[in-house]
Amino acid sequence: MRLSLNIKYFLTFLIFGLCCFLCISTIASQLMMNNAISTKAADFYQEGIWLTDQYVGSYFEKQEDRKAREAIQSQLSSLDVYLDARIWLISRDGERILDSRALDAQQERLPIPEFNSVLPGGKYYMIGDFFGMFSEDTLSVLVPVSHNYHVRGYIAIHTPMSVIVRDKEGYLFSFYVTMVLLLGLAFLFAASNWLMVFRPIRRMRKGAGEYALGNYSTPIHLNREDELGFLADTMDFMAQSLKDQDEDQRKLISNISHDFRSPLTSIKGYIEAMLDGTIPFEMQEKYLNIVLRETERLTKLTSGLLVLNSIDPKQNRLSKSRFDINTVIKNTAAAFEGTCTSKRIFIELLFTDWESYVYADMGKIQQVLYNLIDNAIKFSQPDSVITIETTTKYEKIFVSVRDTGIGIPKDSLNKIWERFYKSDASRGKDKSGTGLGLAIVKEILQLHNENINVISTEGVGTEFIFSLNRAAENENE
Ligand code: ATP
Ligand code: MG
Repeated sequence: MRLSLNIKYFLTFLIFGLCCFLCISTIASQLMMNNAISTKAADFYQEGIWLTDQYVGSYFEKQEDRKAREAIQSQLSSLDVYLDARIWLISRDGERILDSRALDAQQERLPIPEFNSVLPGGKYYMIGDFFGMFSEDTLSVLVPVSHNYHVRGYIAIHTPMSVIVRDKEGYLFSFYVTMVLLLGLAFLFAASNWLMVFRPIRRMRKGAGEYALGNYSTPIHLNREDELGFLADTMDFMAQSLKDQDEDQRKLISNISHDFRSPLTSIKGYIEAMLDGTIPFEMQEKYLNIVLRETERLTKLTSGLLVLNSIDPKQNRLSKSRFDINTVIKNTAAAFEGTCTSKRIFIELLFTDWESYVYADMGKIQQVLYNLIDNAIKFSQPDSVITIETTTKYEKIFVSVRDTGIGIPKDSLNKIWERFYKSDASRGKDKSGTGLGLAIVKEILQLHNENINVISTEGVGTEFIFSLNRAAENENE
């Protein structure tokens, strides 16, 4: 059976309350009864001893003299009222001599036929009919009266058990009242708990259900400064991230489809035109070259996407080693020699040290340099200079790639790192660009826990600066 936390809590509370009542009405009631009996018996015994010492001892000494008898009778009567108990004076051979409830001291002796001064269990009190003398259950305490070291008789003090039960029930009632008050308080506590814990949990459960269905638009937002509030905020944050991811994914797919569709459409168009003769045979070479460029673009796009996909920040698969960044810069720059010559661009290398050793993934850093130099050349005018510089600062080596090209518009500066982003100017200038180059650069450097910054002024030039960790002298593979 599926019970909500709320109902489980309520049932636990109810069972706890019932158990408390059951315990009080059985165990506590019995303990109280035992306690009331023994306390009463002890009190009676003390009173009996006092009576013996003060009056009854001398009575036997004076051979049951009439005056002493009257004095004792009056004492017994007062004590009877005081204790709310019937008091008997019993002779050694089991005859009741005086009864506190008799009208006066001139009363007949009443034999107690089954009298035995040794009470059951060897105790000084008994519960029962006191040797057949009472019709209801009675607590009777027996105190021996000694004179000259001889037992002369007994004082018996009786009170019906119903009186003790009544007293006990009085105590028990106060217990029940306290219990009900405590349960009332516990109920208030449970209610406040319900407000503070269960209600927010129910809201979070509902929110999580919505998130699971892909509906991220209704935040839980508990507006509380405690653990539940933080949990709700974390869930809201998670929902927002999932929403962003969802949107990113949609944007990425639409970008990919768009970037794949345009070259494919033009390839298809040219080939169809060639096949149906719209493009005459002698013109075909020109259009085949266009088709080739478009296929190259598609290949570049695919490999860019594959590279981005292979960079997984969670797996962090870097194969770091110690290498000289200056050599890597020289080699990468050399790869652009052809393009530079045709565009009459000069690459200037400025190194503070002959060798600058860094500890990083060489292949990936080479890719970073390649993408940055490629952009610098692409967005520079012919007959210009590109400067690549390394500087050492403490434990870091900074690499800067600076050009004097078209620059990046201010409002595009924070978008250039997004996948597929190309500024409008570059769209006109560079048709083969995929807009993935800088996204790859950023991800590679993030994987290295390094930063990259860009400083650019439209029409003046652009500088990209990234940092790398300096390799220690003995840093190994
Ligand atoms: P790909 O790198 O795939 O060839 P791309 O160069 O257009 O394409 P990115 O390298 O990601 O893509 O660059 C994104 C955009 O940032 C460029 O399209 C361009 O608008 C701008 N940009 C990057 N580097 C420079 C630069 N050195 N000078 C001016 N604009 C730049
Ligand atoms: Mg690029």
